[in-house]
Amino acid sequence: MTETPDQEIRVCKDCEKDYTLTAGEVEFYRGVIARVPTFQMPKRCPTCRAIKKKQRAMERQNNSSIPDTPKRTFEEFDKELGI
Ligand SMILES: [Zn+2]
Repeated sequence: MTETPDQEIRVCKDCEKDYTLTAGEVEFYRGVIARVPTFQMPKRCPTCRAIKKKQRAMERQNNSSIPDTPKRTFEEFDKELGI
């Protein structure tokens, strides 16, 4: 008898297609929920999640008039160039 992996078949909220949460993902989300009870298992398939993520990133870009501060300073640049 082979051990059944602890994966879950779920239906996407957006496209209504079945998708599988792998055992690793289920474990990961359960771990998060254990620490953050308000956190919920993802309701969307990876494809729709990627789309949502992109949309949110775009919204964030549109909303903020302040550009992200560069992470690297000129000093670090100089070091990289060997000056
Ligand atoms: Zn979907």
